[in-house]
Amino acid sequence: MALRLFNTLGRKIEEFKPITPGRVGMYTCGPTVYDYGHIGNFRTFVFQDLLRRYLKYKGYKVTQVMNLTDVDDKTIKGARREGVSLKEYTATYTKAFFEDLETLNIERAEYYPKATEHIDDMTRMVKKLIEKGYAYRRGDSAYYDISKFKNYGRLSGIKIDETSQRSRVEADEYKKEARDFALWKAWDEEDGDIFWETELGKGRPGWHIECSAMSTRYLGETFDIHAGGVDLIFPHHENEISQSEGANSQKFVNYWLHSEHLIVEGRKMSKSLGNIYTVRDILKRGYSGRTIRYLLLTAHYRAQLNFTEAGLKQAEASIGRLNDFLQRLRTQQVDRENPEIPKKCLEVRTRFEEAMDNDLNVPEALAAIFDFLRDVNRLIDTNGASKENLDEIYDTMLRLDTTLGVMETEKEAELPEDIMQLIKLRENARRRLDWKEADRIRIELLEKGIILEDTSEGVKWKRKR
Ligand code: AMP
Ligand code: ZN
Repeated sequence: MALRLFNTLGRKIEEFKPITPGRVGMYTCGPTVYDYGHIGNFRTFVFQDLLRRYLKYKGYKVTQVMNLTDVDDKTIKGARREGVSLKEYTATYTKAFFEDLETLNIERAEYYPKATEHIDDMTRMVKKLIEKGYAYRRGDSAYYDISKFKNYGRLSGIKIDETSQRSRVEADEYKKEARDFALWKAWDEEDGDIFWETELGKGRPGWHIECSAMSTRYLGETFDIHAGGVDLIFPHHENEISQSEGANSQKFVNYWLHSEHLIVEGRKMSKSLGNIYTVRDILKRGYSGRTIRYLLLTAHYRAQLNFTEAGLKQAEASIGRLNDFLQRLRTQQVDRENPEIPKKCLEVRTRFEEAMDNDLNVPEALAAIFDFLRDVNRLIDTNGASKENLDEIYDTMLRLDTTLGVMETEKEAELPEDIMQLIKLRENARRRLDWKEADRIRIELLEKGIILEDTSEGVKWKRKR
């Protein structure tokens, strides 16, 4: 089955056809590294990861590029406030960003280019735009004249006359028109010692040009997919198109994908509204990275997702069910062959793929998995399962999880050596009938998050949730 995706350019669901068969080039707008990312940002990054993982599931070789915006008003302001270099300042938040990716089990992209390391690519592109008449210089600044680009507004549907009302137009006495946007910003006092001396003058790049220049460098002039949050459609992505297509005279991107916002009590989670939670805030409240990931994944990416404590609890319970099921498969006693099980495995794979092929419909894909859990549990309870049956169920779950990334793999389910030792010590204590010592160890394990159950088949353990 073919993958179908909603293309913002044209606003309809289309079959995905890559430029080169079997390969996908994908550019995803990344973070501005001036602070810890909030989970709204990470909803978008988890979505991009889901897309990447499902493309890989379908057998594509993916080349993903994600930019790191390490120079702009906010990073400069932060560095100057703290009295450190821009590099030092952004390094802190870049490191934090990668830690958060790890926490959320987001796969690494192939490239994470930094804006400050691609100034040459950007100035070259700006010069080309000036030569071709799309851009003009004023002093040490350069601007894009959007009236020159005939397709301006095709992505967002915004007409040129409306642009000044819709975008956060920066007051700037040098622009011909308020709606024009800066490609290169002349140095001013607020920039302190942060500037580059280039042929365009002393200054720094505008934000939009970095994505056009770096995507061309790593993916070529035309590539398959460009993704980001909906707030980037206008003006950021509209501007990227006008820059790249203006400079390269080629179609920039075939499929534009945008994920909806994470909201809190009906409003977008954003720093300016002061309603933000970082990944770290939520970890501190005792939830795991997988739980946060699960919550961010559960809604369809084109629907808003309301962030609540109840949602986190529900996500935690759902992951618990998935992991308990995997644990059951690992410890289930082997019985005779159950011919219904291979049918169920095929059915869940088919339903999962149909849902995901349909514009990444995660809610339906998850519904298929939970139906599978219920049916298979019942089948094993009533008729048992052979070793082959159990392996097939287990492999099916892990295969689906290569896309979702929420389940506990065998390795993670294994206990660390010190805990295994404690469990053995407790068993020895019980054999000696030293109940006091056995209890002491049980409590120690509980404090480490491990619950022991003494069953007729021996001691079993599970993780505290
Ligand atoms: P920034 O670090 O501000 O450049 O944003 C990084 C990414 O987060 C962009 O793709 C934004 O569209 C996205 N984003 C910002 N706020 C939210 C939100 N509340 N929900 C989902 N995505 C968001
Ligand atoms: Zn971008």
